[in-house]
Amino acid sequence: MTEEKAQKIVKASELDHDLRYKISEQVGAKTLLKCIQCGVCSSGCTVSEFIDLQPHRVVASLLLGLKDVILSSNAIWTCSLCHRCTERCPKGVDYSFILALIRNLAVEEGNAPKEYTDTIKTIYENGFVVPYTEGMKKTIDRRRESFELPEIVSPNLDEIRFIIKNTKLGNLIENENNDKKEDK
Ligand code: SF4
Ligand code: SF4
Repeated sequence: MTEEKAQKIVKASELDHDLRYKISEQVGAKTLLKCIQCGVCSSGCTVSEFIDLQPHRVVASLLLGLKDVILSSNAIWTCSLCHRCTERCPKGVDYSFILALIRNLAVEEGNAPKEYTDTIKTIYENGFVVPYTEGMKKTIDRRRESFELPEIVSPNLDEIRFIIKNTKLGNLIENENNDKKEDK
């Protein structure tokens, strides 16, 4: 099992007391406020050996307002969204949906793993997950031709960029650009 992170003292002023309500509002009846910390979600989690904060501890951290602890954990991005925790929870807490909401929160704050940011950037710049330009374009076109597949139609970049900006995924790109400026 992955080593748990070293315990760090968090000052009361650093706690986000509204976080649990903010998340709860969006979850409805399957709220985390019902959690009894039984640990059933963690015992059946399909990625438990790869995460540094087990599901019941993520819920406990949310209830305590430990926002930074949650956002810096790899648990939110390693989850495979298999929904097993949600299916097994005796109190009906929708943990997998809660985790998706935390991912949204992380993105809003421009805080996501580099792999995600790079993928968003590629989609923003050329409309594809894989860069469809120059050498790569030639290779893809050649392979498609050999399978008698039609030519790829270029996506509407304006629409894609509009979606990225309005879903706040653009915050990730903006943060990366700012980091680069500061490094210069
Ligand atoms: S299974 Fe449900 S009640 Fe038990 S710790 Fe997990 S979220 Fe809380
Ligand atoms: S949805 Fe995520 S947290 Fe829940 S059991 Fe699956 S991998 Fe684990």
